[in-house]
Amino acid sequence: MAKLKLEYIWLDGYKPTQSMRSKTKIIDSSKVKGKLDVRDCPIWSFDGSSTQQAPGGSSDCLLKPVFTCPDPDRKNGYLVMCEVLNADNTPHESNGRATIDDDDADFWFGFEQEYTLWDPETNRPLGFPKDGYPAPQGQYYCSVGAQNAFGREIIEEHLDICLDAGLNVEGINAEVMAGQWEYQIFAKGAAEAGDQIWVSRYLLERTAEKYGVTINWHCKPVKGDWNGSGMHANFSNTELRTAGSQKKFEAICNKFGSKKAIKDSIAVYGADNEQRLTGLHETQSIDKFSFGVSDRGASIRIPVLVPANGWSGYLEDRRPNSAADPYKVAANIIKTVKN
Ligand code: ADP
Ligand code: MN
Ligand code: MN
Ligand code: MN
Repeated sequence: MAKLKLEYIWLDGYKPTQSMRSKTKIIDSSKVKGKLDVRDCPIWSFDGSSTQQAPGGSSDCLLKPVFTCPDPDRKNGYLVMCEVLNADNTPHESNGRATIDDDDADFWFGFEQEYTLWDPETNRPLGFPKDGYPAPQGQYYCSVGAQNAFGREIIEEHLDICLDAGLNVEGINAEVMAGQWEYQIFAKGAAEAGDQIWVSRYLLERTAEKYGVTINWHCKPVKGDWNGSGMHANFSNTELRTAGSQKKFEAICNKFGSKKAIKDSIAVYGADNEQRLTGLHETQSIDKFSFGVSDRGASIRIPVLVPANGWSGYLEDRRPNSAADPYKVAANIIKTVKN
């Protein structure tokens, strides 16, 4: 009888940035009819005292499977994204997914995940020489050629494995700094979008392992005149998709401009974001709030297609950074729009 390998993935309790942890559970294929469903995956547990999620004397935390897809790189393998629960089945305080208030999946999210391929030997991005700097920014964005695009075999392999897993990747591109790349993932439903981003991050880390390359998720990996890394959150609900009104768009943008909304947003948009949101490099400064059509120097950009389509569509919050938790980002956006 075949055995299935289920890789249970969860987020640890480290602050301010949570990391992924995972371990393999073997089950009999006879337990599964057809393609593995998340309901086929049993609740499991782990040692929360090793992940800053529980004290040693009462260390068990629970893993509740919430999303599953095939693991194309592993024989009879599946990836199983999990929420962390306390021993009494309540959501653990590190569980951002449980804070999402979007039961009817009316919110759609498209996350643009930027990251930097990192050479652990030089402790610099791929494409940076051991000493000094490569040519200044300008030639790397959406580039081709060995002098411009670094690590393409890794990002191509990652794209294929994501598509084979069934993740809804919508595109990829080389970014503004040497060694920096982006992919976009879209889903109808905030939790689903977050699940897919986390699984894609897991697959990126694991793909890069094979090349001895690490993924630098930090939002400003190289100081100075080098772009930081974001995770722009494009979002819509029925109201935005069918607005037909500039006023409605601006009313929603203005909700994000209250003092409380700015504070709540920045709190979950990723650590060290003041290093990235400087007002330079296609960002608005962290202590300012603005929105505008086609404005990549704004906190929130109204895509140019929105007025072109009679003021219906979506918004782009440009502030979330590459290391932010997409669950918490989405939860914040939904809370702010619904408020
Ligand atoms: P840019 O680099 O110009 O900011 P991208 O093409 O990288 O834009 O990303 C745009 C994102 O917007 C994609 O992830 C796409 O899925 C998402 N998107 C498009 N339409 C909607 C919508 N109605 N609701 C939510 N997200 C959307
Ligand atoms: Mn983009
Ligand atoms: Mn980008
Ligand atoms: Mn963008």
